[in-house]
Amino acid sequence: MEQFDVLIVGAGHGGAQAAVALRQRKFTGTIAVIGEEPEIPYERPPLSKEYFSGEKSFERILIRPASFWEEREVRMLTGRKVVSVDPEARQVTTADGATYGYGSLIWAAGGHARRLTCGGGDFVGVHSVRSRADADRMLSELETTTEVAVIGGGYIGLESAAVLAKFGKKVTVLEAQERVLARVAGVALSRFYEKEHRDHGVDVRLGVTVECIEGTDGRASGVRLASGEIVPAQMVIVGIGIIPAVEPLLAAGADGGNGVAVDEHGRTTLPNIFAIGDCAFHANAFADGLPIRLESVQNANDMATTVARFITGDPEPYNSVPWFWSNQYDLRLQTVGLSAGHDQEVLRGDPATRSFSIVYLKAGRVVALDCVNATKDYVQGKALVLAGAAIAPEQLADADTPLKALLGTTPAA
Ligand code: FAD
Repeated sequence: MEQFDVLIVGAGHGGAQAAVALRQRKFTGTIAVIGEEPEIPYERPPLSKEYFSGEKSFERILIRPASFWEEREVRMLTGRKVVSVDPEARQVTTADGATYGYGSLIWAAGGHARRLTCGGGDFVGVHSVRSRADADRMLSELETTTEVAVIGGGYIGLESAAVLAKFGKKVTVLEAQERVLARVAGVALSRFYEKEHRDHGVDVRLGVTVECIEGTDGRASGVRLASGEIVPAQMVIVGIGIIPAVEPLLAAGADGGNGVAVDEHGRTTLPNIFAIGDCAFHANAFADGLPIRLESVQNANDMATTVARFITGDPEPYNSVPWFWSNQYDLRLQTVGLSAGHDQEVLRGDPATRSFSIVYLKAGRVVALDCVNATKDYVQGKALVLAGAAIAPEQLADADTPLKALLGTTPAA
């Protein structure tokens, strides 16, 4: 059995950054990363953006080139899936029956795309967008596709829709809620993106329920809605969230459910086992200390660094401000903070100019911003979120006043 001082499960954003941060912090022990996918760590966001659109090759989305891992003596054990963890023996077992021992285990396994459970959900032509293999499968079918149905109006669904619309495909977005991005953004942003997609020829359907996938010989030909209507589609993209990949940890006795529970240092309830990234359920200061899972590169990277600090004897609790981005058409959305639970939205600028921000307030304090083609607001707004600044909505709405000028001001009584 091979033995490593630190064994990382999951060769994605969090896993890669954990190894990088350990070496940056002069950790000299042995490190291995076990990854289910055949590739060394690559960036996932481009799968629905620049990689999918052909603007970036796979080599350009690698987190680090292969030589980087070799030089730093980080063993990449790719194409191997961990199926069980034995916390007492401090070892994991992979699907091929091999066992690996560890001093510390960092679980960075992310999640698997949630699949449709309705009829036809496994037909050829039905896709998730989680891995390079998923994106390559979609790309290989593009030539024979004229109509695409995107199930789920979240970021991944909308980004894919934008790329496909640019490719000239007839795209229909099917969203169960009454607005797109309902889980992550306020109403004004949802309405803006719905209009943008419609202006680009995408048919955005809201409040619709998918009944099943239609098809012949196991190949998709459309999506049947509860109304009985069939939306024709040779390609169906399913963007309905992820299921955290934590079964082996929960089976080993770790606390959790929707992910695995960790404390402010990324420690699970099992000894010497940490968890980071999409699969880690943690109390987040920007969610009023409530336990949440965040699905973002920022969170994966910063949690990785938190764990590397702990392992190298320089602990610092996880307390990073959440941020995120999304590219659709020529729009770059940058989000800082968490808008969930806000009670007020303030618009800065005019959405018709396609450069504006939305400031979210909770009990009079700035908790988040969504900035569309407005990087300055994003950068300066971060300080307001960090400070939990209480600023009068009229001041925030005045796009001629830079946000940094508002820090330290107090709202009018
Ligand atoms: P991942 O990067 O998913 O890595 C987990 C790895 O673990 C995977 O390779 C998985 O195969 C592997 N694994 C799972 N189970 C096992 C096992 N049992 N054994 C071994 N290996 C295992 N975030 C942003 O901030 N901005 C964006 O614009 C953005 N766009 C996105 C677009 C797409 C299409 C997707 C899919 C995600 C996007 N995200 C974006 C989210 C971001 O990519 C994730 O939050 C981030 O990748 C999480 O990192 P992670 O290390 O937790 O998980």
